[in-house]
Amino acid sequence: MTVLRKNLIDGEWLGEAGSRNINPSNTNDVVGEYASAGPEEAKQAIAAAKAAFPAWSRSGPLARHAVLKKTSDEIMARKDEIGRSLAREEGKTLAEGVGETIRAAQLFDFFAGETLRLSGEMVPSVRPGVGVEMTREGVGVVGIITPWNFPIAIPAWKIAPALAYGNTIVFKPAELVPESAWTIVDILHRAGLPKGVLNLVMGKGSVVGQAMLDSPDVNAISFTGSVGTGKRVAAASVEHMRKFQLEMGGKNPLVVLDDADLGTAVDCAVNGAYFSTGQRCTASSRLIVTEGIHDRFVDAVKERLDKLVIGDALDAKTQIGPVVDQTQLKQDEDYIAIGRQEGAELAFGGDRLERGTPGFYLQPALFVGSSNAMRISREEIFGPVANVIRVKDYDEALTVANDTPFGLTSGICTTSLKHATHFRRNSEAGMVMVNLPTAGVDFHVPFGGRKGSSYGPREQGRYAMEFYTTVKTAYTFAG
Ligand code: NAD
Repeated sequence: MTVLRKNLIDGEWLGEAGSRNINPSNTNDVVGEYASAGPEEAKQAIAAAKAAFPAWSRSGPLARHAVLKKTSDEIMARKDEIGRSLAREEGKTLAEGVGETIRAAQLFDFFAGETLRLSGEMVPSVRPGVGVEMTREGVGVVGIITPWNFPIAIPAWKIAPALAYGNTIVFKPAELVPESAWTIVDILHRAGLPKGVLNLVMGKGSVVGQAMLDSPDVNAISFTGSVGTGKRVAAASVEHMRKFQLEMGGKNPLVVLDDADLGTAVDCAVNGAYFSTGQRCTASSRLIVTEGIHDRFVDAVKERLDKLVIGDALDAKTQIGPVVDQTQLKQDEDYIAIGRQEGAELAFGGDRLERGTPGFYLQPALFVGSSNAMRISREEIFGPVANVIRVKDYDEALTVANDTPFGLTSGICTTSLKHATHFRRNSEAGMVMVNLPTAGVDFHVPFGGRKGSSYGPREQGRYAMEFYTTVKTAYTFAG
């Protein structure tokens, strides 16, 4: 029997059954039933967050530390159960689900610590007898809008700093992953947050998300999702003169040079392009490979792909779970067809797979003979699909890597210090990896990109403060 998960508005669990979600590994398995908020609930949640802001913003570090630490401890204690539930709802493997849950616990722990480290500055004024003090304050009501591909880590890396720096929240998770969102809110609520400080409004982006964008009482929006929705967030936020932060798509290059260690390059490519079913904004979807290693690299990647275990996310042996839903599966298959029409050669995979249960299983796909001008090189596919672009040398590799509307992550596999250093300095991406997959980052350092991938201050680590606080400069004449 499924339990109805309700929205949290002003400290009360409210709402009637609105939607059901299913397990992408087994579409006969209903994960849960969820309330679906409309514009009226969004308004109530925003009003509750607005009313709760003055007291929460003045609550002091200890109260915030207590809630964040308790939340981290509970998530960590329940990592296997929550990780399993995440894998069931999103389709990433058990190991990935548990790993992401641990990441959420680490993020709450990090920002619990940050509550005790907030500081300001005091400087003498240019006017004798005057003191100048610079402090940081919470921004107000923060709207948090998240995608489906990291159902617990992305909410955690937004909610934790928002609370740590004294903001109140209206949180709108992606429609496909309400269970993870509900779980994190339930834990925070029970950890002792005062009513109205954190509100959960599950529902459609075009309805409840849009109501958040349209409200003059939302003072800041932190958004992660597609470029199209990000542009809407930007336009609406400018209209209301509010702060906003966007993390969007990627078309991340992994450069493999002739002098690379082949084993390292294959590990980086297979992990970066295909793990989490390729559904990571940091996935390496363009593999840019120099001539001398090209054929050996392609053969070795194909060999590795052939050995990958693709199946039910909840089976401990599975290495690649299903695609998240039918719509994403169709998008992946459409792009595989587009790649072929454009003249790229499908060197491996790309077929739907039958497993013991009805699910959205797709064999990882590898294109070779592709150019950087093709649509499969320019548009985000967001599935287990990557293409190899053959280049002459390092200079051409760098030019191709940077020739993209996106700029989230990039990577290079090389044993040359000269090329690694040059790439780190000249790659037009927010995060650059040397001999590491383009996906997989630390939680205590800034996360974000350039160009069409990101807009606004960085997320995570101490840099998160830039978005979730506003600076006050106070002048005092003491006589
Ligand atoms: P999406 O843009 O469809 O949805 C993201 C969120 O926006 C969801 O909660 C959705 O309900 C909401 N939304 C939709 N329409 C809205 C509207 N009119 N007003 C307000 N909110 C609205 O994205 P998605 O399909 O859930 O996620 C996949 C995308 O997310 C990919 O492009 C991926 O690259 C990106 N992503 C980026 C990062 C990053 O940090 N750069 C991380 C993960 C995912």
